[in-house]
Amino acid sequence: MENAKEPGALGDMSAEEFRQYGYQVVDWIADYLAHPERHAVLSQVEPGYLKNALPQSAPVNGEAMDKVLADVDEKIVPGVTHWNHPAFFAYFSISASAPGILGEMFAAAFNVNAMLWRTSPAATELEEVTLNWLRQMLELPESFGGVIYDTASISSLCAIAAAREAVPHLHVREKGLYGAAAKLRLYCSEQAHSSIDKAAIVLGLGQQGIRKIACDAEFRLKPELLDAAIAEDRANGWIPFCVVATTGTTSTTSVDPVAAIADICERENLWLHVDAAYGGAAAILPEMRQLFLGCERADSLVMNPHKWMFVPVDLSVLFCRRMEVLRQAFSLVPEYLRSSETDEVKNFMEYGPQLGRRFRAIKLWFVMRYFGVEGITARLRQHLELARQFAAWVDASAEFERLAPTPFSTVCFRAFPATLRQRQDWSEAEREAALETLNEQIMERVNQRGKVFLSHTKLNGTFTIRLAIGNLRTATAHIQLAWDELNAVLKEWQSAS
Ligand SMILES: *Cc1c(COP(=O)(O)O)cnc(C)c1O
Repeated sequence: MENAKEPGALGDMSAEEFRQYGYQVVDWIADYLAHPERHAVLSQVEPGYLKNALPQSAPVNGEAMDKVLADVDEKIVPGVTHWNHPAFFAYFSISASAPGILGEMFAAAFNVNAMLWRTSPAATELEEVTLNWLRQMLELPESFGGVIYDTASISSLCAIAAAREAVPHLHVREKGLYGAAAKLRLYCSEQAHSSIDKAAIVLGLGQQGIRKIACDAEFRLKPELLDAAIAEDRANGWIPFCVVATTGTTSTTSVDPVAAIADICERENLWLHVDAAYGGAAAILPEMRQLFLGCERADSLVMNPHKWMFVPVDLSVLFCRRMEVLRQAFSLVPEYLRSSETDEVKNFMEYGPQLGRRFRAIKLWFVMRYFGVEGITARLRQHLELARQFAAWVDASAEFERLAPTPFSTVCFRAFPATLRQRQDWSEAEREAALETLNEQIMERVNQRGKVFLSHTKLNGTFTIRLAIGNLRTATAHIQLAWDELNAVLKEWQSAS
């Protein structure tokens, strides 16, 4: 930072210095990606650890990059939960693939704001090209356009805003919901993701503006109940306007019957939005496509390449059959953003609440080109196969049981040891309470041991452990490790009790 004191030298880091540290950082990342399993998968630090380790205010004078990089190792890495670890099985497991990381480097370096076509034509057009490729991979019809947002939460929010815009004679955009005096109602299953509730809150529908439809024994929305709910709501003065179906719910990865739901939406003139944030990637596999029948009739569909397609966070795609309605919902062009080529090009700022946008498409492009459709397909297939393997171990075990079907790469299960199963003096409620405590303890203990990371959900009130596979580095040895850890911890508990 010495030259910063000289007049005329108040610029950036020099090219030489950038090169030096750039190589160093790339070497660091390469080593890390080669061996993420050297770290505990779940960070073992205590709350406040970093706030106590760093100064209370920013450095007055610049510091040497060596010192900053040393602090990454010393202070940051211990507080990182390693999503790149091959035994990360919690939530939905993901990977920042190396080609994706290289793409991200270019996005950071170009640092364009892709709000208008002219503010970086490559960013806009690459977004259109890669989304057209992805649309074909998912076998969605050509009538679907696409737009990249940060997360599925925002994709669904925008889709629901478009659905609201599509309601005739409402004019919410001008009058607001209050002025329009509209009791709008949105439908989804009780297994739908909480981002749908959040969208309803943000869009002013309120949580009462959502009606949750009950599911069947396999956690899929029951279309006949949806039908009845819409009729009842209409009779009571509600305006039904949108249905959200999920292909790959977050708890169990269950798949709503989209074709039957699409029939209802067409008949009732409702916007159909499909949440395929996680499951959507599997539609690339011909043998999985039957799970997505009816998606081609949706008005919009979200899928997250950052979830199960090896693109670094964040990158979510909203496909939409009615891009003009999405635009109508959000387009607002102040004078300073007017440009002459508007009729020939897409200005993506018109398709969402945000003005500025990152050049996200470049990392998607890198990933698609480096792996190719075949390479992506083979990797997804491997994850499905690993999940089938793990599910088979659970099914064959006398001490564990599976709690939901496994259509994708996520297994829902719990320990159900014979000692608890066979106790005669317990009521069902007592048995369930004991099982909940046991499974919670097993999961906590496994996570504490630091070799694998699992998370949980509740299914009909039952504490359920989830093992989600989606990491590029996960191999049979890692699911074997998870299975061994679970059995070892269960044995520990059995010998203690
Ligand atoms: C993960 C997930 C989401 C939320 O994704 P974000 O990109 O984190 O907002 C929404 N829906 C489903 C079904 C998901 O699995």
